Amino acid sequence: MENKASRLLRLTLKGGEARVFLCDTTAMAQKARDIHNASNTCSAAMGRMIAAASIMGANLKSEGDRITITINGGGPAGPICAVAGPDGHVKVTVEHPETELPLKANGKLDVGGALGKDGQLTVMRSFGFGEPYVGRVNLVSGEVAEDMAMYYLESEQTPSLCALGTLVSENIVAAGGLLIQAMPGCSDELLDQLEIRAELFGAISQMLSEMTLEEIVSGCFRGLEPEILEEIPLTLTCDCSREYIERVLLSMGESEIRDLIATQNGCEVSCHFCRSTYTFTGEELERLIEQGRQEAEE
Ligand SMILES: [Zn+2]
Repeated sequence: MENKASRLLRLTLKGGEARVFLCDTTAMAQKARDIHNASNTCSAAMGRMIAAASIMGANLKSEGDRITITINGGGPAGPICAVAGPDGHVKVTVEHPETELPLKANGKLDVGGALGKDGQLTVMRSFGFGEPYVGRVNLVSGEVAEDMAMYYLESEQTPSLCALGTLVSENIVAAGGLLIQAMPGCSDELLDQLEIRAELFGAISQMLSEMTLEEIVSGCFRGLEPEILEEIPLTLTCDCSREYIERVLLSMGESEIRDLIATQNGCEVSCHFCRSTYTFTGEELERLIEQGRQEAEE
């Protein structure tokens, strides 16, 4: 298939009775699959997390704001984490991306089995300064979309319909997500209409493989007065740098760094999100310790 650019549409229904976020994150899910050399099941899990983070990130306002979504369900794939900023930049990682499980009885990839459901979904919003806001809910299924819907309901008191999907073959065929939230004063008529179409929304990855976002909007929301307010371009990209890794090393403390110098005369640090490797020689670590001391004195 052609390489569609990842993007998100923000829209309203019935003049604002409900708001909708709809995204195509196919290219991002493919990039994540390649970076992490991920199994089909973990590609699907990351694809759903990328879409979830893209949708949440679309609500951030200022540069420096971040949303971090983590699912720690005790499954064999380990914790999975996605981070999004207000600029449509998203990154994702999973501890054991090679984890593969047999397909479920319904023929679907067993994302819930890989991530586990014995744990919590955590959402951290940080605002560049001050204490971050952290919200937590117990996992429903580890399938991501149900867990996100529970988060919106319990933590934000917003009834939400969430569909996240990744269609995997040799490569990622389609990936994306849909979030519909009823606003205060939403009519029963609209709620009924959305309820009736819930099954259609669940086939989001299938729809994305055949239609553009605009076609999905007019197809899914016919008669509900959809109005597109904004389009946000999305990219899977990492914001790590050598300076950032130096900060992480310094935060471990001098004795830990001394230990690295003594035992291996340097170190190699790999970024969990983009798998870039940063190498530090023993001499460079010595200089880093010196720099840390000077900063502490200032
Ligand atoms: Zn990185």
